[in-house]
Amino acid sequence: MISFVVSFLNLRRYAPIHYKLMLSMTIPVLVIFVLAIFQQRFITNTVLYYIVLVLDILIFTAGIAALHSGFTPAKYFLLAWIFVLGSAMIFVFRGLGILPQTPATYYAIFIGSAIESIVLSFALGNRIKLIREESEELKRKEIELEKLSVTDSLTGLYNKRYMNKTLSEIITQKSRDTHPISLIMIDLDYFKRFNDMYGHIEGDMLLSFFSSMLKTMTRNNDIPCRYGGEEFVVILLNTDIKEATFIAERLRTRFAQTAFETRSGEKITVTLSAGITTLRPHDTTETFLKRADAALYRAKEGGRNRCQVEM
Ligand code: GH3
Ligand code: MG
Ligand code: MG
Repeated sequence: MISFVVSFLNLRRYAPIHYKLMLSMTIPVLVIFVLAIFQQRFITNTVLYYIVLVLDILIFTAGIAALHSGFTPAKYFLLAWIFVLGSAMIFVFRGLGILPQTPATYYAIFIGSAIESIVLSFALGNRIKLIREESEELKRKEIELEKLSVTDSLTGLYNKRYMNKTLSEIITQKSRDTHPISLIMIDLDYFKRFNDMYGHIEGDMLLSFFSSMLKTMTRNNDIPCRYGGEEFVVILLNTDIKEATFIAERLRTRFAQTAFETRSGEKITVTLSAGITTLRPHDTTETFLKRADAALYRAKEGGRNRCQVEM
């Protein structure tokens, strides 16, 4: 009974004083066991009556304390305990000679316990519901945290950590030999100049603006990431170099044609340069990224606002 109450009401958390008191009650209970073994019937019964009395009060007040601390299943528990308490009182008073020895006083404890069991099953149901809700909430938070840990806070794209993890996973997969994988590395042109002219906040807004476009212009299976300040990487699964070039070129022209509007209403067109490559058999994450970077460098060297391919 003690261990049930302690664990059911989670006394350690919801009623720490009762937790200690309840645990200390195991000592007189053990004494009763020893007395019972030595057939000390009269003493055993008398001590038992007092223990039951103290335990009843303790358990009832523990229920109140737990309910007070916000543990809702305690209300069913308390209701159950009213029946036990009532019947136990009859049992104790009968034992102490205060109530007469009749079948009703004799069976009171059994009837009380039966009703208690029914009400306690409601309490248990409520407790299970609570545990399930708590675990669902935990799961939801875990998913949210997981999402946060892979997301770039400014743009909502995947972050560099996720990009590296994904690339190294892709590269160790067997399917890489049968399905082409391509990569686009993007860098906004003259972004420093934009920042200098319109300010860092406006720069951030431009990065968000571009990221939204990137998200809408890539497909479900593509993995758009923010690689660094104004640099982006799109990992394209199942995509050969021809298709990757088409996607990059379409993005470049769209971005160059869509003016960004500053908070003061000024419309500015910004351009991007992109390097495109596809995964080779002996590539590592580093060699794969390095090749895309080399292609991007050539696009910048070639005058910006263009895409370059490095096979
Ligand atoms: P290029 O055409 O050669 O790419 O020139 P660029 O000016 O775009 O490139 P550069 O690397 O010289 O400058 C990048 C600038 O991006 C410098 C840095 O202040 C800015 N930057 C980096 N991260 C952020 C950011 O999160 N927000 C803002 N607003 N600016 C950033
Ligand atoms: Mg840059
Ligand atoms: Mg740049």
